[in-house]
Amino acid sequence: MYKLIPNFSLKYNNSFGLDVAANYWLSIGDQEDWILAMEQYPHLAEEKKLIVGGGSNLLFLADFDGMILSPDFSGYSITYQDGDSVEVEVGAGVDWDEFVAHCVGNGWYGAENLSLIPGKVGAVPVQNIGAYGVEAEKIIVRVNGYNFGKQTAECYEHDACRFSYRSSLFKEQWLNQFMVTSVVFRLWKQGEVVTGYGDLDRTLRDMGGPTLANVRNAVIQIREAKLPNPKKIGNAGSFFKNPVVSAEQAAELAERLPGLPVYPQAGNLVKVAAGFLIDQAGWKGKKVGRAAVHDRQALVLVNLGGATGEEILGLSQAIQQDILEKFGVVLEREVQVVC
Ligand SMILES: Cc1cc2nc3c(=O)[nH]c(=O)nc-3n(C[C@H](O)[C@H](O)[C@H](O)COP(=O)(O)OP(=O)(O)OC[C@H]3O[C@@H](n4cnc5c(N)ncnc54)[C@H](O)[C@@H]3O)c2cc1C
Repeated sequence: MYKLIPNFSLKYNNSFGLDVAANYWLSIGDQEDWILAMEQYPHLAEEKKLIVGGGSNLLFLADFDGMILSPDFSGYSITYQDGDSVEVEVGAGVDWDEFVAHCVGNGWYGAENLSLIPGKVGAVPVQNIGAYGVEAEKIIVRVNGYNFGKQTAECYEHDACRFSYRSSLFKEQWLNQFMVTSVVFRLWKQGEVVTGYGDLDRTLRDMGGPTLANVRNAVIQIREAKLPNPKKIGNAGSFFKNPVVSAEQAAELAERLPGLPVYPQAGNLVKVAAGFLIDQAGWKGKKVGRAAVHDRQALVLVNLGGATGEEILGLSQAIQQDILEKFGVVLEREVQVVC
């Protein structure tokens, strides 16, 4: 059964905790709900639409003059398995970390490095979430959804999803026009864990070795120590993407900034750590009005309480300008601004 609420406050539905509202909030549990709601309230079709999962990657600049659509499709089911792997279809409204815990609990490999990333399953292919050397595309088999323009259900196999760094077809071409309803993931019954990223290796040694359960626990431990909890201090995780530069520019930067983390990519390109650049430029812990750069993780901008989206955006733009002037590097936003 769908739920429609007019004049809806979004304060508890965006992880920055911004005090904004929308004309309508519509939550649906299946495609029939959508069709039913449109039949009963045809004027809703005229409203601008924003699909929201957990709201953990959004920066609202003002009230949203339109309808928030919350796809609350629930449940998991195994669609295929053999001796090596298992394929699981997961509803878009399932909490992502709950699913990761389910995988690790069943001894299935593949999702463990993505533990504790906030948000729902529906956003996972849109964002191609990633952490500790793993991106979601590695375990996504297909994405099911509903195309509002064509008014039909569609299914995209992995190769058609055009995954890239924190992006996909659903973000580049179909943003707010294609609603993910479920995602099919492939997990492995035996596997090798990925441990060579950040502090993971060292934490795993302290925990007694790289078992599947230890990887999840280590990732959770590191994240809890480094990242502010959005329930306590408003934030959306990494505000910027790690920039990808030429190997020559990366070498120059590494010489100027000893200790700069660099990650070689295909095509003579190198990904460099945006947080390190922001820290080196002196922004860590800096406050501007009610917005600030987190004091333990320079890549995270926080709402100190009562900040507006404009204040946070202003701070981010000052950082982008400074990093360009100091290091010649363009920082791209990872967080999506909603106007
Ligand atoms: C503390 C913290 C740490 C984080 N760490 C990481 C990290 O390590 N790695 C990482 O990749 N991200 C990280 N993030 C960002 C965020 O958790 C991810 O982007 C997550 O996938 C967002 O999920 P969500 O449900 O909250 O999506 P939302 O913020 O609600 O939406 C994000 C985008 O997806 C679209 N969308 C959502 N659901 C659907 C759907 N069903 N169909 C179609 N479109 C949809 C929205 O329209 C929007 O464009 C972090 C955020 C926080 C607050």
